Formats: sequence, structure tokens, C-alpha cells
Amino acid sequence: MKDLFKNKKLVAALKEAVKSNTFDGEEEEGGFIFKKDEEFAFEKIPNKNSGKAFAVVLYEADPIKIGRTDYKRWKDGWTLFASFHTHPGASTMASHLDLQKLFTGYQINFIYSPASRILSGYKLEKDEEGIMAYQAFEVPMKDYSWHREVRYVEKHERD
Ligand SMILES: [Zn+2]
Repeated sequence: MKDLFKNKKLVAALKEAVKSNTFDGEEEEGGFIFKKDEEFAFEKIPNKNSGKAFAVVLYEADPIKIGRTDYKRWKDGWTLFASFHTHPGASTMASHLDLQKLFTGYQINFIYSPASRILSGYKLEKDEEGIMAYQAFEVPMKDYSWHREVRYVEKHERD
């Protein structure tokens, strides 16, 4: 998994994803990373729960927007690589709702916590007992100077 983050284009897409966060509310935000050969691209998709109380605990992509975006990308040879969403008021620990409602169907899922400034990934793979489960890994953000820029933007926007 670590080798994946040697891909500068994936790191750039993750940067886009983290920076797409508005940092001005309690609702979860998110989107998807698409892959085409060695290219990666992030698409922000509105939370279909926006405006409802549980948008603070659950990101689910607006089905029409993700449907259209996925179809457009697919026609150009892109595949859906990973989901991405934020936990504005919590750690990057995946919730039961994430596991049941969001992660289903995606091999790789990212969660970013603006409060702890940690980006975690969850990859579907077999555990020691041969059971398919999401294995957590932390993305090595400290290796990237852009993460300090994001911290600056976040602080600046809050002042
Ligand atoms: Zn979540």
C-alpha cells in the first residue's frame, strides 16, 4: 500500500480531495477518486444528506451527481478508484454507517479529519483468517509539504 503513495498523481488527487473541504460546517463532505492508467483525478460530489441532521455523521454521494460523473468518466476510460469523505468533528475511524452504507462496493476508501489533520485509508483485503475486511492504513501526510498549506488555509479561513 505504501508504494501507492509514491505515485505523484494519486498524491495530487488526494491533495485536491483534502482541499475541497470547505472547513466551515459540521456536515461531512466528500467525493471520489477516478483512475485511468497512471492518472488519478478527484471529483467532489455533494452529500445527499446535506441539510439533514445526520449529515454530520454520514456522507453519501448524491446519486444523480455521482451517476452522471461516473458515466462521463467511464466513457473516457476512467474507473472509480476510491471514495473520500471528511469527519469534521471526529477522528478518521470508520463508523458502522461508513462500513454499511458508504464503503460497500469500493476497494479503497479515504477519510480525512480536519481536526486531527490525519488522512486514513481503508482497503478491502483478506485478514489473517481469510475473511474479507477493510484494513486501515494511515496516509503518510507528513511527507507532503502541501499538507502544511492546507493547515494554513484552514486556519486562515477560520480567523
Ligand atoms: Zn464516515
